[in-house]
Amino acid sequence: MLTQNLGYPRIGSQRQLKKACEQYWTGKIDLEELNQVARKIKEENWQTQLDAGIDLIPCNDFSFYDQVLDTSMLLGVIPHRYSPVLSQVKSNNEIDLYFAMARGYQKDGLDITAMEMTKWLDTNYHYIVPEFTADQEFKVFNENIFNEYHSAELYLGEKAKAVLLGPVSYLLLGKEKEPGFERIDLIKKLVPVYVQIINRLRLQGIKWIQLDEPCLALDLSKKEKEALEYAYRFIANRVSGVKLLVATYFEALLDNTQLAVSLPIAALHVDLVRAPEQLDVVLALIGKDLQLSLGVVDGRNVWKNDYGKSIGLITKAVEKLGSERVIIAPSCSLLHCPIDLDLETAIDSDIKDWMAFAKQKLNEVYELKQIFEGNGELLKANENTIERRKSSEKVHKQAVKDRVASITSADAARQSTFPVRQQLHHDRFNLPSFPTTTIGSFPQTDDIRKLRARFKRKELTLEQYENEIELATIDAIRWQEEIGLDVLVHGEFERNDMVEYFGEQLDGFLFTKSGWVQSYGSRCVKPPVIYGDVSRLQDMTVRWSKYAAAQTKRPMKGMLTGPVTILQWSFVRDDQPREVTTNQIALALRDEVLALEKAGIGIIQIDEAAIREGLPLRMEKRPHYLNWAVRAFRVTAGGVQDRTQIHTHMCYSEFNDIIEHIAAMDADVITIETSRSQMELLQAFAHFEYPNEIGPGVYDIHSPRVPSIEEMASLLAKAADLLPAENLWVNPDCGLKTRKWPETKAALENMVAAAKHAREQIKLKVY
Ligand code: GLN
Ligand code: ZN
Repeated sequence: MLTQNLGYPRIGSQRQLKKACEQYWTGKIDLEELNQVARKIKEENWQTQLDAGIDLIPCNDFSFYDQVLDTSMLLGVIPHRYSPVLSQVKSNNEIDLYFAMARGYQKDGLDITAMEMTKWLDTNYHYIVPEFTADQEFKVFNENIFNEYHSAELYLGEKAKAVLLGPVSYLLLGKEKEPGFERIDLIKKLVPVYVQIINRLRLQGIKWIQLDEPCLALDLSKKEKEALEYAYRFIANRVSGVKLLVATYFEALLDNTQLAVSLPIAALHVDLVRAPEQLDVVLALIGKDLQLSLGVVDGRNVWKNDYGKSIGLITKAVEKLGSERVIIAPSCSLLHCPIDLDLETAIDSDIKDWMAFAKQKLNEVYELKQIFEGNGELLKANENTIERRKSSEKVHKQAVKDRVASITSADAARQSTFPVRQQLHHDRFNLPSFPTTTIGSFPQTDDIRKLRARFKRKELTLEQYENEIELATIDAIRWQEEIGLDVLVHGEFERNDMVEYFGEQLDGFLFTKSGWVQSYGSRCVKPPVIYGDVSRLQDMTVRWSKYAAAQTKRPMKGMLTGPVTILQWSFVRDDQPREVTTNQIALALRDEVLALEKAGIGIIQIDEAAIREGLPLRMEKRPHYLNWAVRAFRVTAGGVQDRTQIHTHMCYSEFNDIIEHIAAMDADVITIETSRSQMELLQAFAHFEYPNEIGPGVYDIHSPRVPSIEEMASLLAKAADLLPAENLWVNPDCGLKTRKWPETKAALENMVAAAKHAREQIKLKVY
């Protein structure tokens, strides 16, 4: 029985790669130094995996920015707009072209936009979307993969396994940049290049190549399934003497099982953490030669493996296949895990004992093999740990469980219907038509960040710190009054991050010191860990909202992050359904909403930025998710009186397929991102005849550009064509924390002027 790993985090345990890349971009280090850092990380990773006793160790899983962009470079898929960069960098180094594609290029009189970025399946990792044209050609464009294998082979010998994104997933993850063709039809042009690559690696002496085809766990059209069959048949007919392993993850194979087990390959990898139930089906259909890699160690989370469970799966597979045909592995690349739990010195030692990061997970893979071969002590020790977690009072709070179990449908509904509430809100707030507001945060200046950091390091007393935050808040309020915004915000100066701020105050959360995970390029995040039943220990936002409200006569919005977003951006416990954890968070937030209401806050916004990104990959699982996600929002908001106005905000941009669920959230007001699509995204709301109030963002906060009054006024006119004007709000696309003050002020002044213009020009319907 072999063990393998599918991929290892490449940022370095101290985020060395991030630092080196950023230094390279600003010219502080040269390419040689950058390469040195990369080489060191790779060698450390290989050594770690060797030490852990893994048999097949990945290479080419390293990336300076993104593995999909690496694949585009390897295959010569370079959009035409980079031709000038291409000719400029040819003479010195290609990595500048690569970074230009990732980040845009503004140099030497050129101004070329970056390639688009999007989420890698259902993770928070973002990849660079390949761009295809109708006459797309492919060729082996660079030597990286061969060089990577060469150095890996020196280090690892026969254990070195090259990792490459498979041809069908590569095409499906990309995008047609012009009309008139379907990218999947490019498969015939693409596979010969894969054959060349594989054959060159074979000549270098490679034994194993891993081709990632996550699309096998997605809903596929007939044509896409045929493309998979075609591609692997084509490759198999032209390649011999090397073992191909196709890796799938994040979902079950379901209707693609027969297809997957019949591919002419040496081994198939399946994710048995997400979908343990698929093992039976796979074993029932598998042919007599295929080796099966069992992804039993969770590559997406931070918890220790339940060896008993995993051994059950391994035993089942071995009974059918024999141990020589079984490989033990993590469920997916460990890219999505923090690197090393040993670096965490401040986590409660009981809880730490239940956890495993990437390095520890490698060890688990190895230990599972040991246990299977008879090491009973390892199993026993693990059983004890799992048992301690199951019965720990740090995890299980009966009162929280009881409360979740007793949520009623009345808890998940407002007292009256929207029209009744709307009338009450009109009477109470007396806002003009096209009321103006912002999404919550104001610029987080260096001063504000430093202030929070100094307070955290205990260089400031609570009083000193709060004084400074108060000053920033008052400034922001005075300024909002001056320019004439209608519904004010306090500015969120006290918040480091919209999830962390709440996690730090809720019971059941913990924070790591070095638990960094790559989000995109050099950007890393450190998600909170939800380890236990979640409850609210005290007011979390009331102090600041109340303070801010007291500074002005205008309505002040209270500001909370919603339950699904908190869940989605954390490492979540794996011992109960996500739905239950979400309901616990929802109840905690519900109490906060009520505390705000009691403190006199009449308008409360519950941000659900991530509700759409939580959508399961498979269609058949979506309705269930949407039902519980929407219900959790309704539970959060449902306790207030009719006269309180509930807002929600979403940054994700596509609503067509989920509009009825958005409507079911029954927020009194929803603010969304629409400016970049020129209000196109409003079509879904218009078509659905969305009944509640809505604030389509009139300007893009992702750029420092200041939009003109006319520009925003015309977007408002467009919105008023699509939706009842009396339901429209005027606001930016998202929070302003990443912007600077000057552009923020200029843009918001123009926005207020655009709203005035709309009030004068756009007639409201009289019913
Ligand atoms: N209230 C948050 C802010 O303004 C919302 C951010 C978001 O949607 N991502 O920063
Ligand atoms: Zn947003």
